[in-house]
Amino acid sequence: MHDLPIADLAAGLREKRFSSRELTAHFLDRIERLDPALNSCITVDHDMALTVADAADRRLAAGDAGPLTGIPIIHKDIFLTKGVRTSCGSRMLDNFVPPFDATIVERLAGAGTIMLGKANMDEFAMGSSNETSWYGPVRNPWDTTRVPGGSSGGSAAAVAAGLCAAATGTDTGGSIRQPAAFCGTTGIKPTYGRCSRYGMIAFASSLDQAGVLARSAADAALVLQAMAGFDARDSTSAEEAVPDYAATLGDDIRGLRIGLPREYFGEGLEAGVDASVRGALAELEQQGATLVDISLPNAPLSVPVYYVVAPAECSSNLARFDGVRYGHRCEAPRDLEDLYKRSRAEGFGAEVKRRIMIGTYALSAGYYDAYYLKAQQLRQLIADDFRRAFEQVDVIMGPTTPTTAFRLGAKTDDPVAMYLNDIYTIATNLAGLPGLSVPVAPVDGLPAGLQMIGNYFAEGRLLNVAHRLQQATDWHRAAPAEFG
Ligand code: GLN
Repeated sequence: MHDLPIADLAAGLREKRFSSRELTAHFLDRIERLDPALNSCITVDHDMALTVADAADRRLAAGDAGPLTGIPIIHKDIFLTKGVRTSCGSRMLDNFVPPFDATIVERLAGAGTIMLGKANMDEFAMGSSNETSWYGPVRNPWDTTRVPGGSSGGSAAAVAAGLCAAATGTDTGGSIRQPAAFCGTTGIKPTYGRCSRYGMIAFASSLDQAGVLARSAADAALVLQAMAGFDARDSTSAEEAVPDYAATLGDDIRGLRIGLPREYFGEGLEAGVDASVRGALAELEQQGATLVDISLPNAPLSVPVYYVVAPAECSSNLARFDGVRYGHRCEAPRDLEDLYKRSRAEGFGAEVKRRIMIGTYALSAGYYDAYYLKAQQLRQLIADDFRRAFEQVDVIMGPTTPTTAFRLGAKTDDPVAMYLNDIYTIATNLAGLPGLSVPVAPVDGLPAGLQMIGNYFAEGRLLNVAHRLQQATDWHRAAPAEFG
């Protein structure tokens, strides 16, 4: 059951071949048996999941079911879940039980999904390997000596290992697409503003966006459908109608112009990943798409720009964790200053501290113009590159990551090497555009991803092109041997 498309699971539920309770118990059992080797979940609530599944079964019996009613999913532990611990992968929030749900959690619950638990992640979503989590690293189901990618690594590993039907994630600089590529899943980061950020713990507010990790584009379309849309509680939420993503999945792609940025196929790209990506592009060409060479001249600046903007915003956002109202508080503080200092020193890990310090420095008087302002100007140039490119092409494609999953520990001592993982994904966030990663042919037994970048609010188009690719190929159906 765990490898069936969501539409088939929904049909099975409607036709009473199995109940949501049985389906939920099946995934809970897999989590119990298989997750000790992966560490993809921080919190699993069996009783709550089964209780919600019973409610879904009642809805199904009453003929009041939607496409997601009774479908078990996992939420990244960055999304607030009422009454269920939400740690954000940090010791700082190890004891935090939110009093309300994030909008997307509320919407997915309203659509009838069952929350199995909360997915492990890099601390405060800062990382590309899921090694910065206070709860220990997540392991890649394709090779447990390797990382799953990050920061939504728990979500990606759980989907790849068949521990849930789909999972939510967030992407500030690549955190949905990069782990999707490393774990062989389909991941979509929507346009900035498409999904509400209300109740999603903020890392870099102008970049953060919620999205989906799933086994196929068709599954991702169903989940995104339920999450997307305007939310008055998020001031950056877009007042833009949500199209019916499932309705356009099968659309013809003849005449589709695919732009291949020269900057995404250069030095640093592993030959095997390059070949697999080109294999997928050839399949799209077969279906009538045309490949066009383009240039995003400012793309090489995206990593340095991001590592000013993101830490700057994080240093401001994370100021709220002060040990006073919620979260970790040090023992026996001498005075208020001691309480702030020790609570933060104990609550945050090394990477989070590094970002807060870089960001505070970049925003400080005397350096603001040289770093933050300059980065914002370059950010505009990066967005302008995309605007020009989309006058010429419909979709931009390239590899999601330069390499396949690396070994645990391989980059933990070298932050810059770690940051370069997101070289192809970050520009999308800086411009606020939607991006999707789909599995292509494996490289030496490890998954690799093709990235598709669309114009603003072109999620439907990306899902359509990804679905057409997945109808003609079966890379997305491969499952890691020990978790099949
Ligand atoms: N790897 C990037 C970082 O560490 C992106 C993380 C993300 O998208 N949340 O900041």
